[in-house]
Amino acid sequence: MAVPDKIKQEVGKLRQQIEHHNHLYHSLDSPEIPDADFDALITRLETLERSYDLATPDSPTQRVGSEPLTRFTQVVHEMAMLSLDKVFDEKDLEDFDSRIKKRLESDAQIEYSCEPKIDGVAVSLMYRNGVLERAATRGDGVTGENITHNVKTIQSIPLRLKSLDVAPVVEVRGEIFLSKQGFERLNARAEVEGSKIFVNPRNTAAGAIRQLDSRSTAKIPLQMYCYSVGIVEGIELPTRLSGMFTTLASWGLPVNPHRSTRWGITECLQYCLDLLAKRDSLEYQIDGAVIKVNDLDAQRSLGNNAKSPRWAMAYKFPAEEKSTVVLDVEFQVGRTGTITPVARLRPVFVGGVTVSNTTLHNMDEIARLGLRVGDTVIVRRAGDVIPKIVKVVDPEKNQKSANSRKRKKIKLPAACPACGSAIEKDGEVLYRCSAGLICPAQRKESIKHFASRTAMDIEGLGDKLVAQLVDEGLISQVADIFDLNLDQIAGLERMGSKSAENLVAAINQSKQTTLPRFLYALGIREVGEATASGLVNHFGELDKIMAADTASLERVADIGPIVAQHIATFFDNENNLALITTLRAHGISWPVVAIDVGEKPLQDQAYVLTGSLESMSRNEAKARLVALGAKVAGSVSKNTDCVVAGPGAGSKLSKAQQLGINIIDEREFLLLLDDLSR
Ligand SMILES: [Zn+2]
Repeated sequence: MAVPDKIKQEVGKLRQQIEHHNHLYHSLDSPEIPDADFDALITRLETLERSYDLATPDSPTQRVGSEPLTRFTQVVHEMAMLSLDKVFDEKDLEDFDSRIKKRLESDAQIEYSCEPKIDGVAVSLMYRNGVLERAATRGDGVTGENITHNVKTIQSIPLRLKSLDVAPVVEVRGEIFLSKQGFERLNARAEVEGSKIFVNPRNTAAGAIRQLDSRSTAKIPLQMYCYSVGIVEGIELPTRLSGMFTTLASWGLPVNPHRSTRWGITECLQYCLDLLAKRDSLEYQIDGAVIKVNDLDAQRSLGNNAKSPRWAMAYKFPAEEKSTVVLDVEFQVGRTGTITPVARLRPVFVGGVTVSNTTLHNMDEIARLGLRVGDTVIVRRAGDVIPKIVKVVDPEKNQKSANSRKRKKIKLPAACPACGSAIEKDGEVLYRCSAGLICPAQRKESIKHFASRTAMDIEGLGDKLVAQLVDEGLISQVADIFDLNLDQIAGLERMGSKSAENLVAAINQSKQTTLPRFLYALGIREVGEATASGLVNHFGELDKIMAADTASLERVADIGPIVAQHIATFFDNENNLALITTLRAHGISWPVVAIDVGEKPLQDQAYVLTGSLESMSRNEAKARLVALGAKVAGSVSKNTDCVVAGPGAGSKLSKAQQLGINIIDEREFLLLLDDLSR
């Protein structure tokens, strides 16, 4: 039958439109048309394809089946899908390498292919004559389930392989997963629609590919990375895994860009450590790295154990989620009086450290979690982020064991736990002790803050010593630090005379400071290091900052009406003015900052410092940048202009690389400073 050109054109256009809307729906989450309109496009395309016999395996109509299955059919894997052995430390990884060398009867360095171990679902894709014929779960390794109808909904998996000129059979294996971003978008949508919230990306992906109705799967933005080949007929493939990845990519199959070929096990270990450092910045969750012998002939001669191949190993990273029990909840009073609930936990090793307490932020968070003392909870610690309780495990089960474990409701204390003063509500969710600096807890916190490394930097005046000094009645506010004498300090419990001398020296030394440090040390609400630097850059002198009204404060970059009000209120308070006078009388001073009223060379450029610098401290580098007009941020984003990366740079560096941001090392940084300061 001759197909009219008009029909061919319409079919082509429909396919383009549908792929476009599919992309908007899955990748960008910003559909331009309602679902019903989208369905109409599909129906029209299906009708045309049927009437004129125009259906092709790669048409979008083939991605979503119209009828749900009644049950899954089983698939017997022609070649078993084995699972990987796991190691948790360096030593076991080295043993793996030794075993391989022994079996291969060789002392030569082994070439390995390394890749991230994605926390997803292993699947097999069978392509015949280049067309996706069957997709199956791993199942028990021998028998899996046929999930072809669902896998076809995954946009990045080609229904037809590109540039295959022969007509072979190729089975490709890999991991189906849901990105962190995709997961967040799903939950954001679920919240709006009031539907069920998903627990984590892995469970969501596993649930999605085991749907009987592929229309449900199509709503989850699943992705896949391919990492190996199973049975192969009628085609010659590369002899190294690294070459195989290139071939898979040339067929249009997605492969992980973070894979790497390494010589010897020491380099593999370095790969693992580098990967661990960028774990948080990856778009998907990983639980380790996979290390495979790169030479496929060597793989074959090494063969398999009963359950796992001898030529591959999973190097597992510390788990980021563990369960433990909440032993108690205490209330802490912060520097500005904020009362924060803190959970005491049965100590648990998670994310590479032992966690025994974690902040609960506020009472709303406790209500949201439905938390009671005695509950079993999931604690999450990813990277260097502070640990948090993500959920209470099975509240009903906790309920039943109520008698044995005494579950206790968590109540806000009636009065400040430190001073017994009244508690007042502050804003939507916060509570505050009303006593101000009469409250010993607030006093201790404000002194700790004043002495801290990024403020006045009084070495040796740590948390415990501050508490001791306040409890002994030796100091009650920050200015008292400068009245302390050697005898008083040496007289404290557990304090040697040498340490006392060092502390007195450190206190004296701290008097030579900088104006941003001094401002920050005062502990004005919401004035952090960056805001303090911004104020000094703008006004130059303390007296001008103290005299500024809210309107002129708001002219400083990044200061809005709320922070401007906090600053003005602070300097309106007579006690605070008296404190500043006392501190200056003690000899606290700073070099005069010359403010340049003209354009600064780095005006409004966003810099991020990461890793360590040899020639100056991080604080000094920051001060130099700020003096040139740059803003120094704590994290990398698409708005970052430049990252200064020293040795030991981790996730910030890899994020910058991903975003294609200008990265300079210390040498280049010093040259830049020299250039601009001239
Ligand atoms: Zn109090």
